This record gives sequence, structure tokens and C-alpha cells, in this order.
Amino acid sequence: MSSTDVFGNFIGGSFSPASDVLPNINPSDLSDVIGEYGHSSVEEANAAVAAASAAAPGWANSTPQERFDILDAIGTEILARKEEIGHMLAREEGKTLPEGIGETNRAGQIFKYFAGEALRPGGEKIPSIRPNVDVEIIRQPIGVVGIITPWNFPIAIPAWKIAPALCFGNSVVFKPAEISPACGWLLADIISRSGLPEGVFNMVSGSGREVGNVFVNHPDVAGISFTGSQAVGHQVATQCVARQAKVQLEMGGKNPLVVLDDANLETAVNVAVNGAYFSTGQRCTASSRLIVTDGIHDQFVERVIEAIKGLKVGNALAEGTQIGPVVSDDQLGKNLEYVEIGKSEGATLAWGGERLSLETEGYYQAPALFTDTSPEMRINTEEIFGPVASVIRVQGYEEALAVANDTEFGLSSGICTTSLGYARDFQKRAEAGMVMVNLPTAGVDYHVPFGGRKGSSYGSREQGAYAAEFYTTVKTSYISS
Ligand code: NAD
Repeated sequence: MSSTDVFGNFIGGSFSPASDVLPNINPSDLSDVIGEYGHSSVEEANAAVAAASAAAPGWANSTPQERFDILDAIGTEILARKEEIGHMLAREEGKTLPEGIGETNRAGQIFKYFAGEALRPGGEKIPSIRPNVDVEIIRQPIGVVGIITPWNFPIAIPAWKIAPALCFGNSVVFKPAEISPACGWLLADIISRSGLPEGVFNMVSGSGREVGNVFVNHPDVAGISFTGSQAVGHQVATQCVARQAKVQLEMGGKNPLVVLDDANLETAVNVAVNGAYFSTGQRCTASSRLIVTDGIHDQFVERVIEAIKGLKVGNALAEGTQIGPVVSDDQLGKNLEYVEIGKSEGATLAWGGERLSLETEGYYQAPALFTDTSPEMRINTEEIFGPVASVIRVQGYEEALAVANDTEFGLSSGICTTSLGYARDFQKRAEAGMVMVNLPTAGVDYHVPFGGRKGSSYGSREQGAYAAEFYTTVKTSYISS
């Protein structure tokens, strides 16, 4: 791919040039322009909704076999091309190459999973309370679904929304994030060859204010599945509720990892370093608050610092890189500002946090660890979304649990302990959608529900069999013979 390549939209079954384009720049090497991608207009977004609306009744009537064949074909091609797509992902988003390939692999598995789900349509037939009457309960597609995704998982998140939408018979209008449109374009390219009838899937790249806003407010879009920041999520929900459209939001996190005195120290250090810093800390499930009991605190901090000193920060595509760049200039600026905020709040910057100059010009930052922090500091209450974590020292389990739950967010919550009693109690009392025991707060399976509580999520769960709740509507029929 040369720097002059231009990538448009996929509307009504064919690719068309976008009305305007913006360059997609590699955050590991700012001289590398990946290509120019659509910065599309309101008219193009409206055209995508019109195409999806026209195609919706036909796809709603497709058979389970047709849906299986198409989703399976998409999954097969993603898996066959995972190295190439993973390379693009690492190049445009800054995940390391193995992480990029891993995420692409997961996207392929998600399509395969929902191919299988298409062959398992549910439904119940039960006797009525009235004589000679049957009651039938079925799920039907909701119609046109608007899918709006963030930059940090540019192939997995689109996959875990698009695959169930198609599986349950909906048509789709999809807008990838502005910062990482190439993976969305590749996915559209693969879908364009899958045999899906024209108009059932449409992709328009562009800004949230224009393209996203059309999808959210269009009367022909029956539901919006959104992943992104809390600020935008609130706005999307308000607009959807006002016109009674379905809405599902996955947003930020401030995920705690509790480390108790009885934890296996090595496990706890590995879990903390992986959860806090891998993928450059740019995961909604990243551990940003390490809540550590007094007896293990000093050894834990010493070992974590030793481990992060050894992490290789570098070009996402270079062999041996463990931490790629921050995704953008804006995000790096925000991370650096939080490092200053932490210092001004009285926290000790125990390691890292500074911008790094490496061989290629990029948005590199040394993984940062704060110690001597308290729960109310801004670095412990606001989502940073970068390679910055803080340690909060506590006296025992009850205090650790209280601090872990003392947040407006509730996505993923972890504990490292060898006590079954504490692990089970934490599982019960953690105010989060996902609980991890002796595992990083980030890193989930694709066949089970994903989502959070409190400020992190709104609406029904994504992924696994639970995805049906959002992508279908229930019909109850009473039939008398
Ligand atoms: P963002 O909210 O800025 O953007 C998300 C998407 O919304 C983008 O496609 C954007 O173009 C679009 N958008 C922006 N304004 C819009 C509007 N007015 N109407 C409609 N769409 C609009 O988020 P981001 O910076 O891309 O992603 C980072 C955020 O995503 C973090 O807060 C992170 O925690 C969150 N995230 C959450 C999960 C999860 O599953 N909980 C997963 C990944 C990322």
C-alpha cells in the first residue's frame, strides 16, 4: 500500500469514493502515511441508512443456513489473513504485532461463533392458561442497526457488534473510529466478498459529529450499539431514548486490581504489569488502580518497578517490542498532563511517565507507576487511557474492597489472592460487570457476555448468547386452533 492510496465507503453493495479524506498516520512512525480514508458527509451517511433500510426486509427473511454460510466465510477470510490484517492494526493503532494478530484472530473467531449461533435460533412454544390456545415466543431482528466504534480495538469491537447484528437478521450501518479506519475498511472489503446481499452491510468512515450523529438520530435506525467515551456515550443515549431507539453503550473504566498479603507475588506482579501496561494501557479493562495491602506492598512495588524498567517500548512493528506507542498526539498530551496532575496532587512518580524519543518519530511514552496515592486523587478517579497506573496502600481486605468499589465506573475488577474465601467474597461484592481472580483485569473470552455496571455501561450485554437481547425484539403470539 503506498501513501497515495485512497479508501472510500461501502454503501449499497459497492465501494465509492468519499466526499473528503483524511490521512491515516502510523503512531510509531509519523512519516508513514498509511493511506487517505473517508471523512464523509451527512449525505453519505444518509445514503448508507437508505441502503440498509431497503435491504432490511430481505435479510430479515434469510435462512439460518444463509446466515451461517456468510458469517463463516467472513470468519474464514479474517483468520486466513490474520497476519496481514494484524500488521495493519499494529501499524495504524500502535498495538504490538503479536497483539494485532491476536486481536484479528479474535475477530475471526467471533464471526465463526456467530455463524454457529445463526444455526441455533431460539423460540418457545408453551400452553396458554386458556384452553385450545398455544403461546409462541420468538425473537425477530430489530431492523437497521447503527454501529459506532472506538479506535482501540479497531477490528475486534466492530466484529463483536457486526457479527451478532447480521446473525440475528439485522442490516448494518457502521462507522469506524477516525483514528483507525483501515481495519474497518479491510473488514468491509472482506464482507463485500462474502455473498451478503447488497445493502445489508454498509460502512461510512468519518467523524462522530457528522456520520455518527446521522446514525444516532435517523428515524430508520432502530438501535445504536456504541463503544467509546462516557461523554459521547451519554449524548448518544439521550438522543436514542428521546426517539425510543434501542441503545447499548460500553464506555470507560477505572479498573481496580486488589493484591492481598496472601497473593502469590510473582502472579500478582505479572497480572498487574500485563493488565496496566500491555496494549499501552489503552484498554477499557486496563488496571489503573493497584490496591495493595500493607504486608505485601513494598515487595510488590519493588517487583513491579523492576518489571516495567525491563519492558521494551518501541515501534509496534519491530520484533521484541512489548509496549507500542500511544495512539495519537492528543492522547499522549492527555497522558503527560495526568502525570503532572499526579505529581501536583502529591503522589510519588516511582517510575516512567516521560515522552521517549526513539529511532522513528512517534508518540512513545515510558510506562508510569505512581505510589503513595490516595483514592480521591484525580489520577485515581478519572480514566486516563494510557500506560499510567497507581498504587493505593490499604490495611486489609475490607478496605481494599471498599476502595475498589469507590468509583463511578464498574467494568472489570480483579483480585490476586490464594484464599478461596476472599476470592469468592470479592466475586460476590465487586461492583463490576466482570471479575478476575489471579488474572489481569483485561483479556476476555469471546463466547461469553462482556460489559460493565454503573458509569461503564448501559443497556444489555454484548457478546456470546447474551448479544441476542440487543439485536432482537421478542414477539409473543397466541394461536387458537
Ligand atoms: P470516543 O467517544 O471519542 O469515540 C467513539 C466513537 O464515537 C468514534 O467512532 C467517534 O467518531 C464517535 N463519536 C464521537 N462523537 C459522536 C457523536 N456526537 N455522535 C455519534 N458518534 C460520535 O471514544 P474513543 O476515544 O474512540 O475511545 C476511547 C474510549 O472508549 C475510552 O473511554 C474507552 O474506555 C472506551 N472503550 C470502552 C470499551 C468497552 O467495551 N467498555 C472498549 C473500548 C474502548
